[in-house]
Amino acid sequence: MKPFDYMRAEDLQSARRAAHQGGTVIAGGTNLIDLMKLEVVTPSALVDISRLDLSEVRDHDGGLHIGAMVTNSDLAADPRVRRNYPVLSRALLAGASGQLRNKATTGGNLLQRTRCPYFYDTDTPCNKRRPGSGCSAIGGELRNHAILGTSDDCVALHPSDMAVALRVLDAQVEIESLDGSRHLQPLDDFYRLPGKTPHIETSLAPGDIITGVVLPAPTGGLQSYRKIRDRASYAFALVSIAGVVTARDGRIEDIALAFGGIGARPWRDTRIEDMLRGQTVDDQLIQQAGDLLLSDARLLEGLEFKTGLVRRLLSSTLTEAVQ
Ligand SMILES: Cc1cc2nc3c(=O)[nH]c(=O)nc-3n(C[C@H](O)[C@H](O)[C@H](O)COP(=O)(O)OP(=O)(O)OC[C@H]3O[C@@H](n4cnc5c(N)ncnc54)[C@H](O)[C@@H]3O)c2cc1C
Ligand code: SF4
Repeated sequence: MKPFDYMRAEDLQSARRAAHQGGTVIAGGTNLIDLMKLEVVTPSALVDISRLDLSEVRDHDGGLHIGAMVTNSDLAADPRVRRNYPVLSRALLAGASGQLRNKATTGGNLLQRTRCPYFYDTDTPCNKRRPGSGCSAIGGELRNHAILGTSDDCVALHPSDMAVALRVLDAQVEIESLDGSRHLQPLDDFYRLPGKTPHIETSLAPGDIITGVVLPAPTGGLQSYRKIRDRASYAFALVSIAGVVTARDGRIEDIALAFGGIGARPWRDTRIEDMLRGQTVDDQLIQQAGDLLLSDARLLEGLEFKTGLVRRLLSSTLTEAVQ
């Protein structure tokens, strides 16, 4: 690991300033430290935000404000989350391990980096790690990679389970800029697709700090999170689905769906929600929804298996919702 300076921020203003001057924010450190050990990232200075007053979940406009330093364990266990946003609680508990969830934070989880193995191997070309160097995954071993939203420069997957649940819940990210102003950004617009600049992953400007996440008032409906992975626990999603569905007499009244394990960002496609809304669920409808979702999929060799998994998860989510 390369030497670096360390600063424990006592207030947001000093954290913002240090981040703007090139410091790298560290929260739980569960992803960042691994990247530093491998010298995938080599910050000259770390800005530790763990002492800042960002560890509270509080009521907010009928919904919730989740501080950026709330740990994944505390968020999953919060009674309001368990009662009103069970999809979020389930997604969090489906991620990592108990020990990691005790350290991993809301802000850090949103900004964790891809698990593309070539990104972590500094001996191989990777446009995300070193812009313009090429992509070793294309033409290489593909399994934990995306089939939607990719580009010729990068087929990396967004790894977060939590972000998939937040996307289906229409969450907004609260961001504080260098001048101290705060704004809310819908998660839908927060993540950038790779295009020709896969190293730019979000809309954050230099020095921006995530201070929290805002959830709108709960909408009701049946909420579920299903995740398929190589091991029963302690593994990232091959494919996952978050659903919030209201149904009556076999007919879908309202629906929101988001997918993990398939997209360059947590994936939501409102076209399939529009198609499903008002419809009675049967095999043909499930098939059509899967066809529409996968119509833009780019199935590089090694990733074809994901389509069957997506269809099966979609089928079980819709079938359960109307039972
Ligand atoms: C073995 C293992 C298995 C895992 N399995 C899963 C899994 O199944 N599902 C899953 O979703 N995740 C999984 N994870 C990932 C884990 O959830 C993330 O490492 C964790 O959520 C990152 O949070 P952190 O607070 O530790 O972030 P850090 O490592 O501290 O930071 C991550 C990034 O976010 C930036 N950052 C952090 N907070 C802020 C902020 N407030 N403002 C601006 N920038 C910020 C940092 O600069 C850094 O770039 C796994 C991790 C490991 C090591
Ligand atoms: S898929 Fe993206 S992260 Fe992986 S090697 Fe290619 S450019 Fe790098």
